[in-house]
Amino acid sequence: MKRIKLFALLLCAFIIPTIMLMAGCNKTKTKPQPEPEPHVHVFSAWQQSVPASCTETGLMRRDCVDCDYFETSTIAALGHNFEDWHETTHPTCTTGGEQQRSCLRCGELEKETLQKLGHDFSDGWKFSKTEHYHYCIRCGTKADDSKAMHNFSLNEGNECSVCGYDRRSDVLTFAKTGGGGLLFC
Ligand SMILES: [Zn+2]
Ligand SMILES: [Zn+2]
Ligand SMILES: [Zn+2]
Ligand SMILES: [Zn+2]
Repeated sequence: MKRIKLFALLLCAFIIPTIMLMAGCNKTKTKPQPEPEPHVHVFSAWQQSVPASCTETGLMRRDCVDCDYFETSTIAALGHNFEDWHETTHPTCTTGGEQQRSCLRCGELEKETLQKLGHDFSDGWKFSKTEHYHYCIRCGTKADDSKAMHNFSLNEGNECSVCGYDRRSDVLTFAKTGGGGLLFC
């Protein structure tokens, strides 16, 4: 029993004051301290991590030099960089044509139909011994609705008043209206 009393005495004499002292110490430690400065990220330059293509967006990122934080940003798709159009099939009076161009970066090929040109009929005449007609200055096609028999009403009935063909002449004559008249038989 003596021991227990001694222990109790020790407890009161040393341990309790020690606990109180520690509690006191703790109190002084929880004194308000100056708040640590909030971290401000310091970024490296933007760097491309996924390059953009003609049709796909890319990605770039920048890292904080002091922590693991990083930011990303999208790089817009570049869009095709086409060369000039070049004709692969020339359009004619009656058939359409085609033109093409390729992207200088990715090779994407683009095709476009060209409208047929349609006939471009002359103001002048072509003629045979019996008739005259307008013609397409590009392909030579007769303009059927302009085709007509000569009207020999000039120079005593020998010269057509419309195209200037003179039936006394078998050689090439020129139409008065300005177009080159070729003799077709
Ligand atoms: Zn940071
Ligand atoms: Zn492209
Ligand atoms: Zn034509
Ligand atoms: Zn005529």
